[in-house]
Amino acid sequence: MRFCPQCGKETITRTVDQQQRQVCPDAGCGFVFWNNPVPVVAVIVETPDGVVLAHHVSWPKKAFSIITGFLEAGEDPAQAARRETSEELGLTPGQPTLVGIYPYAKSNQLIIAYHLQAEGDITLNEELDAFKIIPREKMKAWSFGTGLAVADWLEASGKK
Ligand SMILES: [Zn+2]
Repeated sequence: MRFCPQCGKETITRTVDQQQRQVCPDAGCGFVFWNNPVPVVAVIVETPDGVVLAHHVSWPKKAFSIITGFLEAGEDPAQAARRETSEELGLTPGQPTLVGIYPYAKSNQLIIAYHLQAEGDITLNEELDAFKIIPREKMKAWSFGTGLAVADWLEASGKK
């Protein structure tokens, strides 16, 4: 954040609450860019054939992930998980179970991850252009972001 969004002055770097932050040099303005992470809902959608991984139109060709989405104002994250399943995949979602909460520093996000069972035929929305269904026993987690949720879910479901 190069310019103060409140008064337009060029921001400076200063330590506030033990972190280096961009702040407005005008004490009367007092703007601090806190850069707090944005919550994101991630959903491990499991169909009778396996877990759905989807490819976003903007991603490298081989990159597939569980689905994610932003919360609407005031929305319960569990409800957001059901809504994203329905909007992005066209499936009928069951009841979500919380898998865990994971910081994702690279995107300055906080991932709230759920698992749910879903039914129906997959119809991708315009953000997605391909999908795979991976049987649970063949699922492999990845070591960042939503992959950490997949790893925890696989470990927990393997113990059942
Ligand atoms: Zn300012």
